[in-house]
Amino acid sequence: MSVEAAVRAKAEAALSRQRLPLPAALSANRIHWPAAIALVLFHLGATLAFWPFFFSWSGVVVALLGLYVFGTLGINLCYHRLLTHRGFVCPKWLEYSFAILGMCCLQHTPAYWVAIHRRHHQFADAQDDPHSPLAGFFWGHFGWVVANNDDLKDSVVTQRYAKDLIRDPFYAGLENSVAAVVIILASWAFFFVAGFAASWLMGGTLDEAVQFGASIFVWGVFVRTVLVWHISWSVNSIAHLWGYRNYATGEGSRNNFFVGFISNGEGWHNNHHAHPNAAMHGHRWWEFDVTYRTIRILALLGLARDIVMPPRYTADSGEGGQ
Ligand SMILES: [Zn+2]
Ligand SMILES: [Zn+2]
Repeated sequence: MSVEAAVRAKAEAALSRQRLPLPAALSANRIHWPAAIALVLFHLGATLAFWPFFFSWSGVVVALLGLYVFGTLGINLCYHRLLTHRGFVCPKWLEYSFAILGMCCLQHTPAYWVAIHRRHHQFADAQDDPHSPLAGFFWGHFGWVVANNDDLKDSVVTQRYAKDLIRDPFYAGLENSVAAVVIILASWAFFFVAGFAASWLMGGTLDEAVQFGASIFVWGVFVRTVLVWHISWSVNSIAHLWGYRNYATGEGSRNNFFVGFISNGEGWHNNHHAHPNAAMHGHRWWEFDVTYRTIRILALLGLARDIVMPPRYTADSGEGGQ
């Protein structure tokens, strides 16, 4: 390691140990009660899944598939790599469909999510970062979601960071809360109706169909939503605290195996901070990135193009070395 790299490594190590103050614009009334209540209710709802009435192996499968369909396609691929960072281009009908899947994850609208995330990249691990875990692990994980932060007010932050989305009538329309509620309720109804219909069509009684529909609902909505939340939040919290670094990025981002695995590729977060626009987050051979592989499959099908790639990673490229 060169002297310069050693000095940089030391400065970065010091950075990761420093305790950040919370964002200055937190209002005195710190709790955003609607978000806090929703969070608690969804976690309680998810615990129903293990009550025998609601448990079914089909429900488990639906929840796991839902992690990919809603979390990977909706959040990772669409909200993050496509809309926030423009890491590739896909047909509008497909982009909008993926955005609807993202909406169903209850992580806010595309424009707001994009705005918050762009602000995160601008101020990563500084006081104005919306969710740095250097201000506390639980703050970075979900505290920021249930806090009243005046800097993150919808109209202010979307106008500043997501003008490109707001100019698109589709995304502007999704900012309308009625549209958002209709989409989300329709997705919830879909899970119950699909479970009910499947049981009914296979000769189940009315009681059995209701029970199976309820099971698919609890697993497909409550469990899936809560798991996708924690996976997304882990990228913000765990992957800014623990793991290894390929690049000296000047903030605390890390490549974390656990988060890389559970999030289908978002846990190679130090790579991502080093090259934010790259659609490919896994840069070394073991950094398997399901989201990027999905984008490649879309490209093979003629449904993705202009995929932004990172410069080829080499250990002695001068960027790594830790
Ligand atoms: Zn980050
Ligand atoms: Zn990002």
